Amino acid sequence: MSSKLHYEFKRKLEELEKYKGRGTELITLYIPPDKNIADVSAQLRSELSQASNIKSKQTRTNVMAGLEAILQRLKMYKKPPEHGMVIISGVIDLNGKQKHITEIIEPPEPVPLYKYHCDSSFYLEPLKEMLKEKDFYGLIVIDRREATIGILKGKRIEALSRATSMVPGKHRQGGQSSVRFERLREIAIHEFYKKVGEKATEALLPYKDQLLGILIGGPSPTKEEFYEGNYLHHELQKKVVGLFDVSYTDESGLYELVEKAEDVLQELDLMKEKRLMNRFLKEIAKDGLAAYGEEEVRRYITLGAVDTLLLSEDLRLERVKYRCPKCGKEVEKTLRFKGDSQQFCDECGVEMEEVERKDIILELSELAESTGAKVEFLSTESEEGAMLYNAFGGIAAILRFKPE
Ligand SMILES: [Zn+2]
Repeated sequence: MSSKLHYEFKRKLEELEKYKGRGTELITLYIPPDKNIADVSAQLRSELSQASNIKSKQTRTNVMAGLEAILQRLKMYKKPPEHGMVIISGVIDLNGKQKHITEIIEPPEPVPLYKYHCDSSFYLEPLKEMLKEKDFYGLIVIDRREATIGILKGKRIEALSRATSMVPGKHRQGGQSSVRFERLREIAIHEFYKKVGEKATEALLPYKDQLLGILIGGPSPTKEEFYEGNYLHHELQKKVVGLFDVSYTDESGLYELVEKAEDVLQELDLMKEKRLMNRFLKEIAKDGLAAYGEEEVRRYITLGAVDTLLLSEDLRLERVKYRCPKCGKEVEKTLRFKGDSQQFCDECGVEMEEVERKDIILELSELAESTGAKVEFLSTESEEGAMLYNAFGGIAAILRFKPE
């Protein structure tokens, strides 16, 4: 998911989460991509006839209206969209007023289940699950007898491949010269490392673009030999982020490895934010290619001078456009989220009308992207991310050049 899409989706869910119904009358319907629409409609019609038995008049009326609204919307579909869809419908309390809303959400990932749900709030858990970080890490645990290769996806560990060796034990048998024995043993070890490298390529190389790093576990000096001997494909080798002492080298070793690497993994998550902010701070310190604050950054974007726009995910501002009803003059202003402001035309003196309102994060990132700038969203979980929000107003930029 691109960061912008991810952000938009997150904000949408935040909005839906706030909506509450008076009774158990908010409907959420999950339709996976392979579901037959006709079957869904049939089930809704049967829910509709059952709903006529609901005792509370208000709940009955609202549930039936919700179901009918969904049935209407479904008529526009022959089959579900690529990722399926989630339809929500119901009467919500909006600033003390009741309002019927029906919305279709096409999520960024496939809808994983079919579900009809009726409650006092919308059922959003499966959608929220899609927002969770699904970073990939490659995992290798190795000793001289065996190796297991796996992957860490979010919190899930999956074993992908395993290799066992023909490396003889440390003690030679009678009749062999010790030099010859050691030589054969070293060859066998080398062959085994090569085999593990090949298996790792097979298992992990297809994921190379998603892999944030590779962890190697095992006893010393095996893991060090394996790593320092460059047995991994060079694309994988450069992703290795740490070596860890691990005593098992079967599937349970993968779990042990992730446990041992916990601190490093957490670090890495926040590393990207740190790197970006450090780049920015270095420029600030030498009064170089950096800018911050909405007004200044906006000006540099329009001049095409922004290389990377840094936005804090915690910003809650909106860009509002006003138009004069008399002369048509337009002005824009940044307001607090859902904030109000009166605006008068400086030509005619009449009150201007609000004609557009947009989340400033989206507005600025679209503006920046249209000039070819990169946009990065920073959480406030890292120290540096928090600094972006607290010290720089949540809006900063690393510049391509500094216009005079
Ligand atoms: Zn005017």
